[in-house]
Amino acid sequence: MRSFVFNGQPSRVVFGAGSLQHLEREVQQLGASRALVLCTPEQQPLAEAIAQRLGARAAGVYPKAVMHVPVETAQAAIAEAQRVNADCALAVGGGSTTGLGKAIALQSGLPILAVPTTYAGSEMTPIWGMTENGLKKTGRDARVLPRTVIYDPELTVSLPVGLTVTSGMNAIAHAAEGLYAQDSNPVMDLMAEEGIRALASALPLLRANPSDIDARGDALYGAWLCGTVLGNVGMALHHKLCHTLGGTLNLPHADVHTVVLPHAIAFNASAAPDAMKKISRALGGADAAQGLYRLAKDNGAPVALRNIGMQQSDIDRIAQIAVQNPYWNPRPIVPDAQPALRELLQRAWEGAPPVT
Ligand code: NAD
Repeated sequence: MRSFVFNGQPSRVVFGAGSLQHLEREVQQLGASRALVLCTPEQQPLAEAIAQRLGARAAGVYPKAVMHVPVETAQAAIAEAQRVNADCALAVGGGSTTGLGKAIALQSGLPILAVPTTYAGSEMTPIWGMTENGLKKTGRDARVLPRTVIYDPELTVSLPVGLTVTSGMNAIAHAAEGLYAQDSNPVMDLMAEEGIRALASALPLLRANPSDIDARGDALYGAWLCGTVLGNVGMALHHKLCHTLGGTLNLPHADVHTVVLPHAIAFNASAAPDAMKKISRALGGADAAQGLYRLAKDNGAPVALRNIGMQQSDIDRIAQIAVQNPYWNPRPIVPDAQPALRELLQRAWEGAPPVT
């Protein structure tokens, strides 16, 4: 019999095509009357339209979110929230924008209302991240878990096909590692398997037709489930490798996850057979690692680190960093695991299929 601890996290989810129409009701429900709308520069038109819709309940638009929340960006946003007397951070966008909202919440305690437009899943986690002098610090704090999340698939139709696939793979990575987390539980397992299934079936449909609103709905539903898993259980080797590659070499977040995932899953396969069975079932019966590799490759996503900005000469350094302060992993990352990790990175660099 399996023993476990289940911790329900308090967040309200409003889901459905057109659900942005409930925004004003949801701001009101939070007791807020001055929401500062956060976004990236690219998503400013959407944020402006949202501010307009909110009318007097919008305190302004702050369009300066960038990847990995540089501490200077966070401080400027915190100052802006104070200046306009905001009582809510309304984050409209992907993980970078939600991350900026979290930086504000961490410092001020303001509630976050998140309107995600990618599949990264940050909106379901109490995890914050901030970058200072090239080093990314992360932590967990209940104050940064968005209080309300509005998932409206219509807002994801504009997500370019390439980012749709890699962001979807990024979400699948949370669930795949959640399935072998040492602190997981049966509820998270159900969510993880269903999240992988929903995303894996939606991605090929979205590649064929990015405006397929039912497939957009399935993908966002999968992203919600996978994000919930990320917020509830510990991550392992795959996330450690991606944080190392992203942080040290500044490689694009979702692309790195897409390339590394099949290899990390293959590395752990023999140590986590039950998780492999569930991943395989969610992929429609394929071998877990090979199925993930095919899902990325067949849908036009990158499968080689060399094609997303990594030099071959970086492999040794990354393998070395990855064995220092490792995350818990089903196949233990002991110092002499370095050659095996080097081999994993070499294959991922080349774009070769994973070895299972
Ligand atoms: P992102 O938020 O950086 O977005 C990538 C680009 O896509 C941006 O230019 C953005 O404006 C654009 N975009 C987003 N949605 C769009 C849409 N619907 N249509 C058109 N363009 C759109 O990328 P991301 O992958 O969502 O987030 C990555 C960041 O989130 C990383 O910094 C990562 O560390 C962080 N993250 C944090 C957590 C957490 O729990 N704290 C979880 C996942 C990711």
